[in-house]
Amino acid sequence: IFAAVEMAPRDPILGLTESFNADTRPTKVNLGVGVYYDDNGKIPLLAAVKAAEKARLEAAPPRGYQPIEGPATYTQAVQNLLFGAGSDLIAAGRVVTAQGIGGTGALRIGADFLKRLNPGATVYISDPSWENHRALFEAAGFPVETYPYYDAATRGVDFAGMKAKLLSLPAGSVILLHACCHNPTGADLSDAQWEEVVAACREKGLVPFLDMAYQGFADGIDQDAVAVRLFSASGLQFFVSSSFSKSFSLYGERVGALSIVTASKEESSRVLSQVKRVIRTNYSNPQIHGAAIVATVLSSPELRAQWESELAGMRDRIRAMRTGLVEKLAAKGVAQDFSFVVKQRGMFSYTGLSADQVAVLQKDFGIYAVSTGRICLAALNAKNIDYVADGIAQVLKG
Ligand code: PMP
Repeated sequence: IFAAVEMAPRDPILGLTESFNADTRPTKVNLGVGVYYDDNGKIPLLAAVKAAEKARLEAAPPRGYQPIEGPATYTQAVQNLLFGAGSDLIAAGRVVTAQGIGGTGALRIGADFLKRLNPGATVYISDPSWENHRALFEAAGFPVETYPYYDAATRGVDFAGMKAKLLSLPAGSVILLHACCHNPTGADLSDAQWEEVVAACREKGLVPFLDMAYQGFADGIDQDAVAVRLFSASGLQFFVSSSFSKSFSLYGERVGALSIVTASKEESSRVLSQVKRVIRTNYSNPQIHGAAIVATVLSSPELRAQWESELAGMRDRIRAMRTGLVEKLAAKGVAQDFSFVVKQRGMFSYTGLSADQVAVLQKDFGIYAVSTGRICLAALNAKNIDYVADGIAQVLKG
């Protein structure tokens, strides 16, 4: 049966972690990851999560099946975070939300639903994008192309190129947009640019699909939802995939959601029935634990306040690492201007380091980064930041 099976290519980032794990140098640092580490280099278990888990363990609830779209306590909490608690769309019944297996699972439910709805469409992702975007939409049967996004010369967004591309696309094209904290570049659109993207989607009849994997990691919960709020105010229909992997540090619990904004309450019930069909034939219904924890935290004023302060702590620490790295590079005599690192948002930065420079960092210093030059700022801490700055400085001078 398996004689003709070919070896699939290795995931480049997981492959990097394997090489990192095999490295015996005690000073090694893995900046290739996509995970938030605290100042001790550990993945945090948030106190708000711990408290909700303790209460749940004590209550010892039975483990029946969940509704196909997840429990209402969870899906309502998701909607309030994304659209704002006072959202007219929510009040009008125009938002459909289904729990997803992480942000990835939510993207896939959306992709599968879209394929039934709009089988001839092409999906457009940013150039570059999170590498799983392409694979995931291709796996759902779509051709995937790109729109211009990152401009290496300015270390920002090539907005003119992006907009021109959007305005050239046929109606029904699916446009995958990073709602905030662009992965891998860290370069985000301004609010004014988002308004232009909304206008382009309206003008050309495009299908916007926002991916919100880092809400709260740039400026704050509501601030980071600007794109969702602008699309909400536009009257357009659109998709949002969201994830609590980072904002609740619940990576392995796989907690995410797919939300779809429809034209009416009546349309919502038809859309939800189809989304449920996609889920039912895929994994039947979602797991309990992570979503229950998130729902408990978000519905308790005390736990929510605690979570918000812990989220702010993660956000502030990443910012401090951005500023720290830029200052230390300057102090070590690097002439090149790295101030763009402070302007980029979220966990990542496209540093501008070449694949060759990344290879030298790995070989000579045991500092691991993605060959595109992407580093994860959340993997820096008080103990390793000097070593990393020193390594980068030497590679740049070399
Ligand atoms: N979208 C983007 C842009 C991401 O960076 C990630 C995770 N790295 C995801 C989606 C998937 O998130 P999850 O781990 O919740 O599946």
